[in-house]
Amino acid sequence: MSRGSDAGTTDSDLVELLAQKIIKSRRIVAFTGAGISTESGIPDYRGPGGVWERQAPPTIGDYLENPETRRIFWAARKERYPGLASRKPNQGHYALAHLERMGKLDVVITQNIDGLHQAAGNAADHVIELHGSAHHVRCLTCGTVYSGADIQARQEAGEVEPDCLVCGGILRTATVLFGEPLPREALDRAIAASRAAELMLVIGSSLVVNPAARLPGMTKKAGGAVAILNRTATPHDNLADVHIIGEAGPTLSRVIELIS
Ligand code: NAD
Repeated sequence: MSRGSDAGTTDSDLVELLAQKIIKSRRIVAFTGAGISTESGIPDYRGPGGVWERQAPPTIGDYLENPETRRIFWAARKERYPGLASRKPNQGHYALAHLERMGKLDVVITQNIDGLHQAAGNAADHVIELHGSAHHVRCLTCGTVYSGADIQARQEAGEVEPDCLVCGGILRTATVLFGEPLPREALDRAIAASRAAELMLVIGSSLVVNPAARLPGMTKKAGGAVAILNRTATPHDNLADVHIIGEAGPTLSRVIELIS
């Protein structure tokens, strides 16, 4: 179901309005959260059955200081990574790749760590991963990077906590843990893209995690428009020029039909 600020506005009116905004905009930035990937079978964090209900992620301090925390982390990763790695993009990811091919979409800023925007066809250098990627693991001492698949193979072969093959240092996934700042370069690029956007499309984010949740406000302040497409309400819905409560994949597919 969708709704807008005007009483009497129908779902299809809002999707039409979004399509019109996209047609008129040359510089579009998408900002995506876990909600764009639920239709690919990856649960979001805060929804029912979300990751937080099963196991809260560690803080960086706890991860570094406590070998038991690392043991639990790697055991959980060994169980979950094959499932994540097998997920495929859905209609929502493909719609954004389509917008990039049309020359409309400058960049996708994502909070997701699943790599599905790149899998759908968005160029890697057009995807800003604010929270890093689960598909890479790096050494905290020497910075050597390993693929998720290689680390998985080592775990399957019996390593409980894989260490760096170059220097023996502690490894970690290339994702942002609680208590850590976002990667500076990614955040700076995201802020610049948000300010330059004629239209920011927010898709599947609860918009409660800062500083990422402040990005749509930056677009607005710089004179751009904001569209929010989410299954549930967010604290920033008042910013939206177009506000659709709905499912990401089917809604974005319809938008692509309307603009093609
Ligand atoms: P979130 O879990 O806080 O919010 C997701 C939002 O998406 C919710 O408001 C929910 O109502 C909405 N939603 C769920 N399915 C939807 C659908 N099909 N269509 C439209 N809306 C839908 O996620 P967040 O705001 O992205 O932030 C929390 C953190 O979770 C991020 O840091 C991210 O790194 C991490 N995370 C990532 C993944 C992933 O990579 N796929 C999965 C879980 C969590």
